[in-house]
Amino acid sequence: MGIGGSDMYRQQILDHYKNPRNYGELEDATFSHVGENPQCGDRIRMDVVLADDGETIERVAFSGDGCAISQASASMLTGKLHGKTLEELAEMDRDDIVDMLGVEISPMRIKCAVLAEKVAQDGAKIHRGEIELDTTKTE
Ligand code: ZN
Repeated sequence: MGIGGSDMYRQQILDHYKNPRNYGELEDATFSHVGENPQCGDRIRMDVVLADDGETIERVAFSGDGCAISQASASMLTGKLHGKTLEELAEMDRDDIVDMLGVEISPMRIKCAVLAEKVAQDGAKIHRGEIELDTTKTE
């Protein structure tokens, strides 16, 4: 798979890849967004339902296909985002994702790792009218 790190973390990534958590689409999503990493062929869609306060992430689901890193990262991120505010989501960066995955990510694969995070962040920005964007692309 081309990733370093301990067996435990590698097992965790493979487990999330084979048994993705919160997989699917939410029909009542407050916002949905899609993104791709053309270099690797990863595609991710994130569906987010906000609580009544319009700030707190109440439910989140993802769907898509691609390499183990991209899909496992999306699966793990959905668990992490639950209960976070959009502000907290906006403050996340690639270090949070690398910490979450727990393995060394090569520069080539970092785009796979952060795709889900970028899709969620861009989706939130579009929802708040901060940017206009059809598809997030990691270039
Ligand atoms: Zn990938």
